[in-house]
Amino acid sequence: MNLSPPRAWAEIDLSALRHNLQVARSTSGKEVMAVIKAGAYGHGLEETAKALDHEGLPFFGVANAGEARRLFNANIQTTPYILGATLPSEREEITARGWTPCLCSLDEIDHFNALGPVKAHLALDTGMGRGGFLPEQIPLALQKLAKCPNITITGVGSHLPVADEDPHFTRSQFELFDSLITQIPQTATPFHIHLGNSAGLLDFNSHTTNLVRPGLMIYGISPLASHQEKLRPVMTLKTRISLIHDLPKGHGVSYGRTLLKRDTRAAILGIGYGDGYPRSLSEQNAHVMIRGHQCPLLGRVTMDQIIVDVTDLPTCQTGDAVILFGPDLLVSNLAAKAGTIAWELLTQITPRVQRNYR
Ligand SMILES: *Cc1c(COP(=O)(O)O)cnc(C)c1O
Repeated sequence: MNLSPPRAWAEIDLSALRHNLQVARSTSGKEVMAVIKAGAYGHGLEETAKALDHEGLPFFGVANAGEARRLFNANIQTTPYILGATLPSEREEITARGWTPCLCSLDEIDHFNALGPVKAHLALDTGMGRGGFLPEQIPLALQKLAKCPNITITGVGSHLPVADEDPHFTRSQFELFDSLITQIPQTATPFHIHLGNSAGLLDFNSHTTNLVRPGLMIYGISPLASHQEKLRPVMTLKTRISLIHDLPKGHGVSYGRTLLKRDTRAAILGIGYGDGYPRSLSEQNAHVMIRGHQCPLLGRVTMDQIIVDVTDLPTCQTGDAVILFGPDLLVSNLAAKAGTIAWELLTQITPRVQRNYR
């Protein structure tokens, strides 16, 4: 007996992943921390980590100890870097495993010193407001660290809240960061200084940093349309046509009964919001790709199925593969129609969607 293939699947192109890493390296001219939090933005945490583990990266950026532990259990050699403030209950494991936290508060400094020895980065808040020392708090943090022999500061970082929205503020943030760095003793080697996410490294440069932290662009999606061409989207989301039928003008389709404006050849597809294809794409002029043609979505997205108009594509048949997004139908454009961002759409693809690696 052959097992049935999945209704919806995501093809993950690992050679595109490595291409995008190369673009991050060459564009920034710096070392790269690949950000693989949230299951590598839906691409699969362990598989993505394995594909990049031999690239000589200093860190993998993860969100918490649970993600770092999955890397440890998968025998990944690249050091996990915890991207935000840590919970007290996470710190013993972080210290014991040699993961790198970023210190956001005096409490964290005290606690890690008690648990250490530990290597850690200092987090500075230059405008994100999500943790880290404000410029005027840096002297106090340094005074405290001077009394904490169990903490070795091996780097310093900050984050950009508007790198893809406000170039003026972001430029001022780079200048502030560069000026603050002179206060931080850089005794450890290597010492990593980092600020840029994807948009930050694509559009800005810093005099002091030697590391960038791209996430989205590693997966081949640029936060800035102007840089999309040099990247290769890693994920292609696919499904199949399960049924094709003719419906008369005036007939309703899907929940809410969107009325057909013409006699329509409608194809039913095996994917819905239960797979992470956003329900908010309903009635937003979204398309899918069948045999290289764009076919409009009809009516509302349901949990397991969507309906598309194939009237103008008489050759398509039941069983045909359908692309929901991929290199020729960018997830960033789909996300905009859904009223969201590519980061959210990618991380919302559910476990029901089988990830196939090549
Ligand atoms: C998620 C994250 C990144 C990656 O951001 P992208 O916009 O996906 O490149 C970088 N730095 C920090 C601190 C993050 O939380």
